[in-house]
Amino acid sequence: AKDAGRNTTRFFNPAMQMAIESRMALETALRQALARDELQLHYQPQIDQNGRCIGAEALLRWQRPDLGLISPMQFIPLAEETGLIFPIGRWVIDTACAQLKTWEAQPATRSLQLAINVSARQFHQPDFVAQVSDSLERSGANPARLKLELTESVILENADPVIERMRQLHALGVGFSMDDFGTGYSSLSYLKRLPLDQLKIDQSFVRDITTDPNDAAIVRAILAMSHSLGLQVIAEGVETEEQQIFLRENGCDAFQGYLFGRPIPIGEWPLDPNQ
Ligand code: C2E
Ligand code: CA
Ligand code: CA
Ligand code: CA
Repeated sequence: AKDAGRNTTRFFNPAMQMAIESRMALETALRQALARDELQLHYQPQIDQNGRCIGAEALLRWQRPDLGLISPMQFIPLAEETGLIFPIGRWVIDTACAQLKTWEAQPATRSLQLAINVSARQFHQPDFVAQVSDSLERSGANPARLKLELTESVILENADPVIERMRQLHALGVGFSMDDFGTGYSSLSYLKRLPLDQLKIDQSFVRDITTDPNDAAIVRAILAMSHSLGLQVIAEGVETEEQQIFLRENGCDAFQGYLFGRPIPIGEWPLDPNQ
């Protein structure tokens, strides 16, 4: 009993207690964030080979009154663990569809695409297809302008249910992009089976593309393979002119990164019709 007591004491050390409390505080705050209207989408431009803006990726931000802007890296994992990703994900889809509809009303922004990130747990909700189709219907947005970014983590042991669900969404007109390509497992075997439109080269391959021959070779291979499968390729994390030149010369279809613009609120967007 004495030993157990000591172990217990050791387990509940102050640092650990604080970590538990701050996690709980974070969860409580995140639970309230939606109701308090503290979530925002920031939009990062996507650029084609001719330098034209073809759309944006919507990236989630949490504006905390006490702490300022919080990165999704700091709360998406907790949201996934607690199931808060369900209402948050629904809010993202709704907000993105409404934004698309606003864009469609103006000639300058009419043809822009909007990509949103969908987590694996979110994708696997039984009513996920209905959520997307309801949001599209309510907003009146053109489904063909909406792109869902999935990571390899959506693929279960059995890919068939994932493929089936993607087909249902495709039938609505919605497009798919494979995000963070090359950082997960099993990508190659599924690439040809999944109804994808686009593949996103992860920024970890882009970073040293002009100095590391291995990264250059990997990116060339990804481009050749994707194009032979009929997939469009977009590179993320493009920060320098040299990276863009390399990518363009090797046939990359589109680019996204700080070189073209950081994610910013819609009110600051260069192509926003309300400007
Ligand atoms: P991601 O989908 O891979 O998004 C790309 C990340 O790279 C973003 O970080 C973006 O701000 C950042 N980035 C863009 N251009 C550059 C660049 O040139 N250089 C560098 N170093 N970074 C660049 P962010 O916004 O912090 O998002 C992090 C991750 O959080 C995302 O990674 C995505 O996995 C997740 N996330 C963001 N929004 C959502 C959302 O609405 N739902 C879900 N489920 N996940 C989201
Ligand atoms: Ca993404
Ligand atoms: Ca990515
Ligand atoms: Ca990423």
